[in-house]
Amino acid sequence: MTLRATVAELVREFRASGRIVIVGASLAGLRAAETLRGEGFTGSLTIIGDEPYEPYDRPPLSKQVLKGWVPADHTKLPRMREVDADWRLGVAAVGLDRVTKRVRLADGEEVPYDRLLIATGTRARQWPNPDEAALEGVHTIRSRDDAARLQKEFSESPSRVVVIGAGFIGSEVASVCRELDIPVTVVERGSAPLVGALGGVIGGIAARLQRDHGVDLRCGLGVSSLEGDSGGHVRRACLSDGTVVDADVVVASLGSIRNVEWLEGSGLAAGFWGVGCDAGGRAFDINGVVTDSVFVAGDVARAPHVLYEYQFLAMEHWDNAVFGAEVTAHNMVNLEPHYRPHLLLPGFWSGQFGVNIKSVGVPPFGDEIVFTQGSVEDRRFAAAYGRRGRIVAAVTFDHGKWLEYYARLIERSGPFPPPPSGWDQPADTEPMPAEFPDPRVPTAIPDVVLTGHAPSERTAEFRPRRH
Ligand SMILES: Cc1cc2nc3c(=O)[nH]c(=O)nc-3n(C[C@H](O)[C@H](O)[C@H](O)COP(=O)(O)OP(=O)(O)OC[C@H]3O[C@@H](n4cnc5c(N)ncnc54)[C@H](O)[C@@H]3O)c2cc1C
Repeated sequence: MTLRATVAELVREFRASGRIVIVGASLAGLRAAETLRGEGFTGSLTIIGDEPYEPYDRPPLSKQVLKGWVPADHTKLPRMREVDADWRLGVAAVGLDRVTKRVRLADGEEVPYDRLLIATGTRARQWPNPDEAALEGVHTIRSRDDAARLQKEFSESPSRVVVIGAGFIGSEVASVCRELDIPVTVVERGSAPLVGALGGVIGGIAARLQRDHGVDLRCGLGVSSLEGDSGGHVRRACLSDGTVVDADVVVASLGSIRNVEWLEGSGLAAGFWGVGCDAGGRAFDINGVVTDSVFVAGDVARAPHVLYEYQFLAMEHWDNAVFGAEVTAHNMVNLEPHYRPHLLLPGFWSGQFGVNIKSVGVPPFGDEIVFTQGSVEDRRFAAAYGRRGRIVAAVTFDHGKWLEYYARLIERSGPFPPPPSGWDQPADTEPMPAEFPDPRVPTAIPDVVLTGHAPSERTAEFRPRRH
């Protein structure tokens, strides 16, 4: 038998045999399962998901579903192909034993695996005071049930909605309120909406956009407490400047938390920012050593990216979940020389206040911004972000057709400011500070520390920080 025939035989055997378990039955989990079967994996495939539903799509939840255009239960993800799998829906994974290679479920069952994919994504951060969070009318939005509940409230014409946090989802919720003619107050601790994702220059434009659409936008302020009536329904939000806003619906849009708790004690590099893995989706153990049988994809993964100085990127974007899952699943059923890297340029879109906002690259990686096309006044423009003389990201407002041009420049490590596209150039093309929040401000993010002195004892450990 020739060497080529032997390798082909090995690959065939690898694909035909073994048990693959996927934990997380959503976008990344489904696309990974489809890829595994598409690449010829014929072994046993088990998909574990704690939600009772078949995989559904989340982006419409804060858009078409809230507006009442699409019922929450009509968001099922289209299937790219048949997936022959044992679906265990409505049951959470609660533990992982990497020595015996078993996933422990909440109902006590243990599911053995040869290769495991972690695709448990993120969940919404709840309002921190549990009594206030339990008031009727206080919402978060991550699942289709969340969206259905909030849509019902919106359909009953609330007197005012308070949105806490003006990131993408909070801003989309506020936009839907205005479309439905519901009075809305947005309270944002930062200096402007979208400031963490796109910086203060674009944040300022987003702030004007919100106010022009009738949003009562309060920046640089927090909500200190929520108060309810005797029936346990929320009635007002008390702000950090002493003012009070009457409202009968509150949406806490405070960002997300990675679903990694079930991995405690597994020895994987799982922490605040997700599960560390290489660019091929292979999970790292807590010491930063790559594992052979555990893989990660989607919102819960964080991997080094060649274009961003090999920093670990944690991305909560739809495209990242799809392409990351496809690459990782490919690597799960192929031999090492055929591994693929997940080198997708990060990108996202958002629709709010009639504007289609799109971005490519990693804007917070940049410290400067320059408007390159269109007109800020017309809210139809492109802008590029730069760092140390090279372009690292771009954002467009109603100018998405140009994003590809910037994506190619970013991929080639093009110069900043970028060469003019030759079309629709604004009068002022001077770069300016992008105004991202100060990264030196201490956070509550846990640190990884090294413990032990002798080489045999020396290991890494996560330590929560308290500030
Ligand atoms: C309201 C909303 C709007 C969005 N809009 C956009 C947008 O416009 N553009 C964009 O690019 N992205 C958007 N996103 C983000 C996008 O939806 C996510 O990037 C994508 O869903 C990630 O897919 P995932 O499979 O990695 O994770 P998830 O979709 O979070 O799925 C993880 C699944 O695992 C389950 N799970 C968690 N823990 C366990 C456990 N222990 N055992 C079993 N199952 C578990 C979860 O319940 C969930 O079903 C939006 C997200 C939301 C919530």
